[in-house]
Amino acid sequence: MRNRLHLQILIALLLGVGAGLLWPEGRTIWGDIQPYSVFDFVGTLFLRALKMVIVPLIAGSIISGVAGVGSSRGLGRLFGRTFAWYVSTSLMAILVGLFLVNLIQPGIQGGEPVGPRLGLSRPDPQLSAELEGRGAGDLVDIVQRMIPTNPVAAAAEGQMLPLIFFCLLFGIAVGSLGEQQRAAQFAFWESLFVVMMRITGWVIRAAPVGIFGLMAKITAASGFAAFGPLLQYGGTVLAALVIHAAITLPLLVRVVGGLPPHRHAQVMAPALLTAFSTRSSSATLPLTMDRIENGAGVSNRVTSFVLPLGATINMDGTALYECVAALFIAQAYGVELGIGSQVVVVFTALLASIGAAGIPAAGLVMISIILDAVGLPLEGIALILAVDPVLDMFRTAVNVWSDSCGAVVIARREGEEGILVREADRG
Ligand code: ASP
Repeated sequence: MRNRLHLQILIALLLGVGAGLLWPEGRTIWGDIQPYSVFDFVGTLFLRALKMVIVPLIAGSIISGVAGVGSSRGLGRLFGRTFAWYVSTSLMAILVGLFLVNLIQPGIQGGEPVGPRLGLSRPDPQLSAELEGRGAGDLVDIVQRMIPTNPVAAAAEGQMLPLIFFCLLFGIAVGSLGEQQRAAQFAFWESLFVVMMRITGWVIRAAPVGIFGLMAKITAASGFAAFGPLLQYGGTVLAALVIHAAITLPLLVRVVGGLPPHRHAQVMAPALLTAFSTRSSSATLPLTMDRIENGAGVSNRVTSFVLPLGATINMDGTALYECVAALFIAQAYGVELGIGSQVVVVFTALLASIGAAGIPAAGLVMISIILDAVGLPLEGIALILAVDPVLDMFRTAVNVWSDSCGAVVIARREGEEGILVREADRG
């Protein structure tokens, strides 16, 4: 049944697109029933159910995961590997994007910047002056907000980074307790985690219906219009995403992890399709964890450390997209960015992807940090708005794909056996 889940989801996704095209927003059938409202209703139920499990799942998984890691040396090593994977794969993604956007130059057509043709005025110097310093301020803000003044409020508001920070701390503290107290705490958080995974399993069964609703709603609202304009820019982002997801990451899985990437892709398919249709790595996290633990056979220790953190800070697709979008906007304005500025773009893209929340369109908002860092006006974002939802689908899938590749590779480097062996053979 599980094996066929990705097929069911894929069919649901295509049926959703078909239904959305057949019944665009505003169309009624059988009297005054609006199919759009039905799609919206079904999709929203599914999204809410996914979001419902996130906070308790993250708390249970991180605290039990970190508390169970054992010695602080073991934790330090796991953290080091995780961090190294996140930073290096994000940088690789950005460099692919940087190379392609300079090669294809989507912002220049027929030797002319496309900005004025798309209704952009020249950069307003006053606007740039107003924005000065904002980017750095935003980054300082992100770091500051990592420490919650009230962890319960952070959990209630679904603020992931402060929640994760607190849970990591809590888990380390539990791990350092005497045996009796540690065991009591550990049993509680671990069973919370098991309960949340059980509920996740139920939500996953509804995924085909939910994804049908989400896809039908998106297509009913915008038809193919969302896919049409800015083809060259969208094509550049997509080509770079494909190179990263289909070449770079599988190579790393094979070479660094010694594991079969195609088998990993099969195992991850339901989660990747969910990421694609929800446009949210956080909402997909329960599925990602299920697939990595129950499908790929990675230990709970690695899963519960690597994935919640990854869903929040490791976004290869977003990092790549930030870089291409910023350079596209510069090209469209006719602004030449030298090597120095391009290096600034690379590093701010990395930071912006770390700071972006795992929710739809988070990456779009983050571009303002980069534009500001290199002195481009914020209104450039207007250029890329139309295609953003579609690109968001692809980059979110790549974000989740990178987290999952990291999980199997790190588990392997930690000496785990039996990863990505067929479930039946694992015994
Ligand atoms: N939607 C993306 C995610 O959840 C973030 C982004 O907008 O780039 O992973």
